[in-house]
Amino acid sequence: MVSPIAWGMWRLAKTETASVRALIEAAFEAGITFFDTAAVYGASGTDGFGAAETLLGQALAEDQTLRDQMVIATKGGISPSVPYDSSPDHLLSEVDDSLRRLEVDVIDLYQVHRRDFLTHPQEVAHVLSRVVEQGKVRAIGVSNYLPEELRALQQFLAVPIASTQPQFSVFHPTPLFDGTLDHAMANDIAVLAWSPLGGGRLWRGDNPVLQLVAAQGSAYGVDAAAAALSWVMCHPARIVPIVGSQNPDRIKAAAMAHRVVWTRQQWYAVLQAGAEIRLP
Ligand code: NAP
Repeated sequence: MVSPIAWGMWRLAKTETASVRALIEAAFEAGITFFDTAAVYGASGTDGFGAAETLLGQALAEDQTLRDQMVIATKGGISPSVPYDSSPDHLLSEVDDSLRRLEVDVIDLYQVHRRDFLTHPQEVAHVLSRVVEQGKVRAIGVSNYLPEELRALQQFLAVPIASTQPQFSVFHPTPLFDGTLDHAMANDIAVLAWSPLGGGRLWRGDNPVLQLVAAQGSAYGVDAAAAALSWVMCHPARIVPIVGSQNPDRIKAAAMAHRVVWTRQQWYAVLQAGAEIRLP
């Protein structure tokens, strides 16, 4: 079981452990118990590859009560400058490295971050099955996979792929059209949406989408961000948006997304404004 909203650590920058704990506590206050990170997060900063996982691990080590309240998702398979490597030896060592940095015994959800075109899905499946058998990983998922790619990987796996993580927002509605969401619904696969607020694009420039979601939000007493998250959550795939804010107050405000209700007409108006399309 996971919370209907997740919190992500892509933007978690070098900071004190106390600040990380404050962000985790803000997430708990919002009812968020699902946490998404990746080995590559923080790689461009001074602490390099693994930095975001290390920060989370330090917070977990400092307060032993946190881990039991969290579902922890991480990802591997991106090696900056390669850029993708899911070869068996590499992926196996990535899982061990993530466990060490996170200071946990088991990763609740291990996701292949991006597909490595040079590794046969059978080999990826073999590694993923092995880490589940070894008790290092509870469930497996993928990110940025097309339905065909997911199907090919599933073909070689004994365990079902539990989740898929596409980019999805009012600005990037591609999963509505490329079969990602239909495939997930047909196969009972959880969907996590990355950059559900377009990575902050909602607030850049003179944005007609901001006017629509702000008006919708104010009708239900919530801010534009919560309304935009609710737009994502309204889809029947029961999409889990990964809130990317590193501001405790904004994380807490995400909980208000549950209040907002959309009519079909309102939802489609936002889709057309965000994607800059006119549906026939
Ligand atoms: P997002 O929620 O779409 O965007 C977050 C950005 O919006 C932050 O810069 C945030 O700034 C800003 N923001 C939020 N509320 C705002 C407000 N009210 N006013 C102005 N700015 C506001 O999500 P994201 O960070 O791009 O991505 C979310 C998560 O998705 C990541 O943490 C990661 O877990 C996952 N992800 C996965 C992949 C993948 O390939 N699988 C790729 C990218 C991301 P503040 O921090 O200042 O609030």
